[in-house]
Amino acid sequence: MGTHSAKLRLIGPGSETSQDAAPTSVVSPIRSLRILALDAHGRALDWIRWQDAACLYARDAVAWTLGESCLTVHGGTSRFTGERSFLDLHPIIAARGHARGRAIDPTPALTNTSLFARDAHICLYCGERPTRQQLTRDHVMPVSKGGADIWENVVTACFHCNSRKSNRTPQQAGMPLLAVPYRPSWIEHLILSNRNILADQMEFLQSQMPKKPRRALA
Ligand SMILES: [Zn+2]
Repeated sequence: MGTHSAKLRLIGPGSETSQDAAPTSVVSPIRSLRILALDAHGRALDWIRWQDAACLYARDAVAWTLGESCLTVHGGTSRFTGERSFLDLHPIIAARGHARGRAIDPTPALTNTSLFARDAHICLYCGERPTRQQLTRDHVMPVSKGGADIWENVVTACFHCNSRKSNRTPQQAGMPLLAVPYRPSWIEHLILSNRNILADQMEFLQSQMPKKPRRALA
């Protein structure tokens, strides 16, 4: 997972070179830049696009920020003062008045993308790391035997192992699991779901991580 803390600059619409440097034509690091939004209590809510963060700044809805400014967005030039407006965006922002109504640690949605990320794209039966196209979602207790489609009952499996295991439990198939499937915490989900986490954001998220190492099966 790459992290970078490079300072990004963006010249937005309204500048001298507005057409050439409109947000649609900026380099990919800015396009993939995500701001970490916290609620007013400092709990991580989700990743938001920098454009949405800029709206919060403009509406004076940012209570406080963490980390060094990571993006400067320039606006138009004032007809009265001749000065250009700009916003300094920070990598982590707490939104005024936003308090998470849901549980403290909501369950991340179970998608194949997040499942494969949880298991580091490794087949939990053979330990191989095949291509993305070869990865599948395996139900440890098969659905046909009453197994649920929940984090604790699904693992990443290569196509070959999934076919071989078929409609059996790991015990029946003689295919022991390499690790216990688990539900990622919300913080872990945020880390796993963003491939371009800035250094300040990673530091914050890691400080929020529950201290429980993943259990490996002997
Ligand atoms: Zn496999």
